[in-house]
Amino acid sequence: MVVKARKFKVTVNKDYCKGCLLCVALCPKNVLAMQRNKAYVADPEACTGCQLCEIYCPDFAITVSKISDENDQ
Ligand code: SF4
Ligand code: SF4
Repeated sequence: MVVKARKFKVTVNKDYCKGCLLCVALCPKNVLAMQRNKAYVADPEACTGCQLCEIYCPDFAITVSKISDENDQ
């Protein structure tokens, strides 16, 4: 039996992001990076869903949600 790894979707709301770099510095998997002074999701596959970025973003600009195996996107 093959057990699929859980996947997570990370979304950055660029309207809220003020480019503080905190999420880029905190993410243990280097999922996030900066482009034009805004955070963006550079490596979505690497996300472990730890939610550090979502919890610590001072502007509530990041949302981490689980993607079910059935609705793999
Ligand atoms: S922590 Fe939030 S405000 Fe700061 S760069 Fe990341 S998304 Fe933008
Ligand atoms: S949930 Fe964790 S692994 Fe995923 S982008 Fe945020 S800090 Fe990185």
